[in-house]
Amino acid sequence: MKLYKIKKSNIDRNGRGLYATKDIKEGARIIDYVGKIITKKQTEDSKKFDNSKPIYLFNLNNRYDLDGDVSWNIARLINHSCLNNCDYEGQGLKLWVTAIKDIKKGKELTCDYGFGYDSDYKQFPCKCGSINCVGFIIREGSRWRINKKFKMSLKKNQRVSK
Ligand SMILES: [Zn+2]
Repeated sequence: MKLYKIKKSNIDRNGRGLYATKDIKEGARIIDYVGKIITKKQTEDSKKFDNSKPIYLFNLNNRYDLDGDVSWNIARLINHSCLNNCDYEGQGLKLWVTAIKDIKKGKELTCDYGFGYDSDYKQFPCKCGSINCVGFIIREGSRWRINKKFKMSLKKNQRVSK
């Protein structure tokens, strides 16, 4: 049984979101974040990422990005929340979504999209409704943060393998 199902979102009223189909434990890997692996040059050359759809673009390493804006990437439906219960993790060219706290059945799954203040964040209002909501989809640090996450998950994995 999958840990998620697609439903009309409470956050994005015009769109869909993913919801927990059962209680999910912190640390559980919920869904892979898939897409097209493209080179940095392709990202630079593509008009698509001229700030219209940066939400789905991830930095994998110095050479490659992942464009998650494809129909088969169910994980793209996960909405942003300032009080997110999931986060992106990566290793090599793979990305996935992990629960960062225990999530009750029926709750909407949310991630931190992690836009930096340097990006044009005002075009992305946040309606997550959390008590700490800042009104826009931003976070401190950089939107290109998967590299950092990657290092963190490596550390975590090393701890597990002991
Ligand atoms: Zn918010």
